[in-house]
Amino acid sequence: MRWRLLASRVIAIDGPAGSGKTSTAKAVAAELELAHLDSGALYRAVTLVMLDAELRLDERRIVEAANSHGVGLRDVHGSFHPFVDGFDVSKVVRSQDVTAQVSQVAALPTVRDWVNGVLRQLVADHPAGAVADGRDVGTVIFPDAILKVFLTASLEERALRRAKQEGRVDIDGDGVARLSRAIQERDTADASRAVAPLVAAPDALHIDTTQLAFGEQVAAVVDKAKPLLGIA
Ligand code: C5P
Repeated sequence: MRWRLLASRVIAIDGPAGSGKTSTAKAVAAELELAHLDSGALYRAVTLVMLDAELRLDERRIVEAANSHGVGLRDVHGSFHPFVDGFDVSKVVRSQDVTAQVSQVAALPTVRDWVNGVLRQLVADHPAGAVADGRDVGTVIFPDAILKVFLTASLEERALRRAKQEGRVDIDGDGVARLSRAIQERDTADASRAVAPLVAAPDALHIDTTQLAFGEQVAAVVDKAKPLLGIA
């Protein structure tokens, strides 16, 4: 298959919700001058369209709507953002409504095939290659990626990071517990689905980021990637 030839230009970073995949992938891509592709953002944009059009979980209609509303990732000053109908939906795809539904949409095989096709085309069209993050980048989308990383962190640490990311500085213990439960539910749904479940590739480099500073986790990936990419 043609896209298999692209694998030498891909670094795959997978892991559960809140493990720091997306921020790490973005920083690694910037350092190595590669594109950053957030596959979760694409699932979220498809979910947004599904909710707006009230399509429920009809996979054929969801994919038709994704095509007709121009769902995709577009380069905005060197960083790929999710777009719908020509609008940058980076912020709205992070809403609670979308977050609550996205795992159900991502469990639909036809939707997964569509997302995989979009991501492979983006890599094919990119002159340098990409760091792509998600749940099945190293196992399904780019199984021959030059480097596969599986990021983890403790559930509590992931909930605290999510709270910080959402600007919830005054969150109390109950709030963290609620966020932890929501994250765990999404992880369980993502890890137990029939198609492309969240699982580490057998040849993935595992990095537990619970005790790592952000710069350390980025450096761990960059140091591993450089020799593989032929960068001194
Ligand atoms: O990474 P993020 O949390 O934004 O992903 C949102 C959801 O998209 C995940 O919970 C998962 O259901 C789905 N997803 C997926 N496969 C990917 C990336 C995301 O199933 N490669």
